[in-house]
Amino acid sequence: MPQIKVLPSDLRNKIAAGEVIERPASVVKELIENSIDADSRDIRVDVLYSGKRLIRISDDGTGMDREDALLCCERHATSKLSHEDDLFHITTMGFRGEALPSIASVSKITLVTGLRGVPSGISVEIHGGAVKEIKDFPAVGTTVEVRDLFFNTPARKKFLKAHSTELFHIIDTVTKEALSHWEIGFRLTSDKKEVVLLPPASGFRERIMQVYGEEFLEGLIGVSAEADGIAMQAYVSGGENFRNMKSHQLIFINRRPIKDRALSHAVYAAYEGVLPRDRHPVYFLFLDIDPDKIDINVHPTKQEVRFEDREHIYRLVRSSIAEAVKSDRAEYARQFSEMPESASVHERSGAYPAAYPEHLRSGASGVSESPGLPYRPSLPFLYLGDTFIALSGKGGLILIDHHAASERVLYEKFLQGIHLNAHRLLFPKQVHLSPREYRVILENLQILGNFGIEIDDFGPETIIVRTLPDVLKDADMQGVLSDVALCILEGIPPDKSFREAIAARIACHSSVRGRDILSPEEVSSLLADLEQTEHPDQCPHGRPTRIFLSLEDLKKMFKRK
Ligand code: ADP
Ligand code: MG
Repeated sequence: MPQIKVLPSDLRNKIAAGEVIERPASVVKELIENSIDADSRDIRVDVLYSGKRLIRISDDGTGMDREDALLCCERHATSKLSHEDDLFHITTMGFRGEALPSIASVSKITLVTGLRGVPSGISVEIHGGAVKEIKDFPAVGTTVEVRDLFFNTPARKKFLKAHSTELFHIIDTVTKEALSHWEIGFRLTSDKKEVVLLPPASGFRERIMQVYGEEFLEGLIGVSAEADGIAMQAYVSGGENFRNMKSHQLIFINRRPIKDRALSHAVYAAYEGVLPRDRHPVYFLFLDIDPDKIDINVHPTKQEVRFEDREHIYRLVRSSIAEAVKSDRAEYARQFSEMPESASVHERSGAYPAAYPEHLRSGASGVSESPGLPYRPSLPFLYLGDTFIALSGKGGLILIDHHAASERVLYEKFLQGIHLNAHRLLFPKQVHLSPREYRVILENLQILGNFGIEIDDFGPETIIVRTLPDVLKDADMQGVLSDVALCILEGIPPDKSFREAIAARIACHSSVRGRDILSPEEVSSLLADLEQTEHPDQCPHGRPTRIFLSLEDLKKMFKRK
């Protein structure tokens, strides 16, 4: 008896849906992309209960006629491809004809659509892939309502995450699509409350500003480049605007958000010699590549792209960003050389613009002296480069990484909540966050409060910082809060408690950066504080804070023993 049978179409659709529709945010992505392809100027997304109950996408696009509306939920039904050759010249977001049948097979959908300029329309209701009702319904544009996602695939439903997590994925999806389609207005509501509102923008830059705020954009430098069928427009970290986590790193190819390790590497390579260890640049790369030179048909949700000449793109990204970074730093140096002389020595965090090139700074190496200061520490110490402090003590040589050491000190202070000296700010700071960060921060106000950071909602997407511990008074609060949000979203490492993980993130921002030279008093108090900590030998991320070479060690090294 034959063992092989061809699967019935509803089962085939469910299997295919498994690849494309993983969670509510996948439905949002596919339906938004359909609306984009339909030449919409205004796309509205409404979700109830993080999309588990309802996802509704409405657009003002071309709409469909009756025949297309009945066909669009059939597998491999698409208006975007007709010949094999088209597959290698894709100019639309969709092309596989899979999204609607996949969604329809695992939910209850109602599609209402009508052609532009025609007074009639149609409504089609499909439950679990089976057509339930078709009726005339006057409509302009298209609205797709998806209810009870995964109602007939309980195994998939079980994998859905908590309400807030699924909502964050949806916000992220809408934000990404909106970033690369700035000419379209986007609106997202969740449980009837507005979460994202983005009117049409004039370009990539304005859209980034709408999403992240003006201050954020000021920390970025614009780069554009063009060569052999590739055009790049990018906004990347300027000055010392680096993050502790890989946040806000987005690549769009032909307006599609994609992941590509090589291109990400190209950006890091552009910062060679500039980017401190364990710090990350922010980048938004927007690449337009001749569709014949890439293959998008390599991943079911089109998150990856195959390039005809990856190396060429790599080189373009790397060299153009490297050049922009170089002139940005030269500009910093110029600004600094025009500063009055008196402002230059030993005033931490005000005196050296953080990005000021090392070789132009006085006192960046050698014995740190502070002739004008009344107090001289009893311990002589040497700065080795701009991160390490060497001093003699305990019968040997102690080498200290001042950044790691101060991270340890602050981390423990944050954890204990003491000696933080939180003050109410005379001028509260307004901070604009991305919609996703904004929600995460508002959901975790209490833990931030424990660390002396008091925040109020100032909406939309804006919070106001009212109280700060002294150590954070000069910190880039958008960077701090964005790192904290990402840390919560990515999940807490198993060896840390929630409080510990957040404290480590914040401590990292407030502690001295690799490039700030400490004054002698600061060194003395750092050493004293480090002694008081519970684990003085390691920073919260597990790197050593100090290394001790005893006389015995030195003798062995010099082969005297
Ligand atoms: P694909 O986008 O890969 O073509 P889909 O299953 O997502 O496949 O959609 C099938 C077809 O339905 C599309 O090719 C398009 O013709 C039509 N369609 C889907 N959504 C819309 C919309 N919002 N407006 C107009 N037409 C749409
Ligand atoms: Mg589609």
